[in-house]
Amino acid sequence: MSTLTLGSPVAGWATRLEEVPDPAFAQRMVGDGIAVDPTSAELRAPCDGVVVSVHGARHACTLRAVTGAEILLHIGIDTVSLRGEGFTVRVQEGQRVRAGDPLISFDMDLLARKARSLLTAMVVVNGEAHTVTNRVQDREVAVGELLLAVAGESSSAVQETAGDEKAERRVRLLIPHGLHARPAAALARHAKLHAGSVSIVNKGRSANAKSVVSLMGLGARHGDMLTLTVQGEQAERVAQELMELVISGLGDPVQPIAEQPEVPAEVTAPQHFTPDQEVLLKGTIAAPGVGVGNAVRVLEESAELPMDGQGIQAETQRLADALASVGRDIEALVSREGAGEAAKTEIFRAHLALLEDPELTEAAHREIAAGRGAAWAWRKAVARHAQVLHELNDPLLAERIGDLRDIERRVISQLTGRGGSRVPAELPPDAILVADELLPSELAAIPAGRLAGLCMARGGPTSHVAILASGMGIPAVVAMGDAALRVPHGAPLIVDGNRGEVHVFPPAEVRDATRRAAAARQEANLATAHEECRTADNVRIEVFANLGRPGDAASAMAKGAEGCGLLRTEFLFLERSTAPSEAEQLAQYQEIADTLRGRPVVIRTIDVGGDKPLAYLPLPREENPVLGLRGVRIALQHPEVLRTQLRAILRVKPAGVCRILVPMIASVSELRMVRAMIEAERQALGITRTIELGAMIEVPVAAVQADRLAAECDFLSIGTNDLTQYALAMDRGNPYVAARLDSLHPGVLRLVAQTVAGARKHGRPVAVCGGIASEALAAPLLIGLGVTELSATPAVVPDLKAFIRTLTSAQCEDVARKALELESGDDVRALVKSTWPGL
Ligand code: PEP
Ligand code: MG
Repeated sequence: MSTLTLGSPVAGWATRLEEVPDPAFAQRMVGDGIAVDPTSAELRAPCDGVVVSVHGARHACTLRAVTGAEILLHIGIDTVSLRGEGFTVRVQEGQRVRAGDPLISFDMDLLARKARSLLTAMVVVNGEAHTVTNRVQDREVAVGELLLAVAGESSSAVQETAGDEKAERRVRLLIPHGLHARPAAALARHAKLHAGSVSIVNKGRSANAKSVVSLMGLGARHGDMLTLTVQGEQAERVAQELMELVISGLGDPVQPIAEQPEVPAEVTAPQHFTPDQEVLLKGTIAAPGVGVGNAVRVLEESAELPMDGQGIQAETQRLADALASVGRDIEALVSREGAGEAAKTEIFRAHLALLEDPELTEAAHREIAAGRGAAWAWRKAVARHAQVLHELNDPLLAERIGDLRDIERRVISQLTGRGGSRVPAELPPDAILVADELLPSELAAIPAGRLAGLCMARGGPTSHVAILASGMGIPAVVAMGDAALRVPHGAPLIVDGNRGEVHVFPPAEVRDATRRAAAARQEANLATAHEECRTADNVRIEVFANLGRPGDAASAMAKGAEGCGLLRTEFLFLERSTAPSEAEQLAQYQEIADTLRGRPVVIRTIDVGGDKPLAYLPLPREENPVLGLRGVRIALQHPEVLRTQLRAILRVKPAGVCRILVPMIASVSELRMVRAMIEAERQALGITRTIELGAMIEVPVAAVQADRLAAECDFLSIGTNDLTQYALAMDRGNPYVAARLDSLHPGVLRLVAQTVAGARKHGRPVAVCGGIASEALAAPLLIGLGVTELSATPAVVPDLKAFIRTLTSAQCEDVARKALELESGDDVRALVKSTWPGL
């Protein structure tokens, strides 16, 4: 038996663990110990020991004392989300330290602003063999002052009796694409909640379940039997939970073993290319459609990087800063694309998980510790993991290499200022990118409508770049082999994404004929896009556009949008650190109204909170932000922000062109409060004409009470993205449930029906501005339920209008009535497709 004494790692107020606002600490799930509310900004070693680990986010580290006690020191609560911002690590893993040595410095001001709490916990994580005694608490302590004692067995005794609770489960993987990045990230996220170890074995290969890269390296495929081993406190419970998660598909759909999907076919190798001879290259279908254009080669180039670093500490810091900065960029992209772009945001969330991956960062830190520069170390770490995936000889896992390369490129570009996107900034018209493998971020950065096609030597049909291409409407063929890389720059091409073929140097007449055929439908739709939209039996359906960026209004006009049905104003000022003034807002709104030349502009008041942070309006950290301060609740909490915005909207000329839409309405009183503010501002501005006010139907009670809301406003607009999230109780940002978050769920459709019924009592129109308004498949259902305005992304407006013109209200009502009686969103889709097979 030995006793270890621990000094306080910071100066401050010694506080009981029960008072830490995090159940993991308060309920001693992590271990027993104490917390200190710090007044000093440097974490110091509480005893002599060895640094066992430093968390990738630099906010925590673990020491092992000579007695075998392992002590976790954790600065602040929820500080992992800062991704290292504000922390400077003073030690390395494996380093011996003496009591009082600096471990991590932190920026107290930044943490005070951004963290939920500064309370710094010191807990013994291997508590089975150790007991905490003689705790000092509820008083001021100095750094190093005795805080508690740990009674336990000596290190050798600990090893002998290190009988951690252990549990094992065997579970078959039913995810058709195997344990790829998204489910791996979901599993790792859950495993990390467990303080003990979690490993998974597949076909003799073992992985640390807390590491996405390690999990992906398992090569686990559909049907594989995994063995899950959990060690540490509550191992049985954790193992059971993890097994159930794996069975549920970790957010991906599951497929019984018998229906194993086909592995993509082998690629036919081509020979050579001359302008007078057409060559047909075969590949794998990645995104449908036919594109005609000219090759723009996007070649692999690998910038030379200096191998030697400038000191371990400096390079460690540089890497951490670069990772944090890239993480912030991706998060900004996710929140910008957040609305209705589920596939895109999920892909980039998976990239965020890779950035945090402990195996990757640890591999890079090992290189840095050996004297390498941060960029060199990062490239080496990524290359090693890519190689592991490559060697698994599994086409599905090989597709994830593109994601690794993407984060490699981003981080190195951040570190060196070189090596950003390889796609030329100026693309010729009808460009068809020909690449070894285009990276998801490179494709996502290309503005809509700029590419005629995409061909890749590598990649696969489920690679993230293929998913993005589909979403952007770009025909794509992948896995074409090295022959694709010999396609000359500028060569005329036809990319047939429906057949998985690429014609190199097709004769001019074939190109023209293909172009004409492909464009005919589009042209026909565009030609009539500027006309009013009516169903075949003359029911007027307004097709508006959702706008979120200043340039969107021009494309909405070009595509025949009949107005703007949702201006997401928070996106206009996303990058700013200060609130936009009334004049700045007016200028933006006026420009949009001018571009739309008199068409209605529905301006949504600021909608932040939940998944939508805004730099100039810092919000408190919340346990459940999507159920907390969001939308109108924030606006009413910051009346000065709302008033400024209302005044700017009221001042747009001509009066009456704008309508005001209020997000996240959950009660009639909120709408009344906004109405009162509008009236006060209108009178103060001396404006005589009233402005139309609408409520967004996003909270289920708003749909149920639509009659009461309709009595208080001029129109209703259904935000199906949020309505679905709240109706199904599935967080729209949570990958575990992403696959089941379906706006065509019959229950959601019933809420749409209820909204329309309520609005009709007061003769109010109902619009839909959520993601499903852009889906042709949803149009007959929504129209059949009585919706008279669809606000969609500008690009789909011509096709949507053309489709609606073929519908009759009787058909729509019939299909909508049947849909309400079905069980699932899939049933609803099948019903619509059986009626309109072309969809
Ligand atoms: C919605 O929730 O459907 C909506 C249109 O709003 P947002 O996607 O911006 O939350
Ligand atoms: Mg919403």
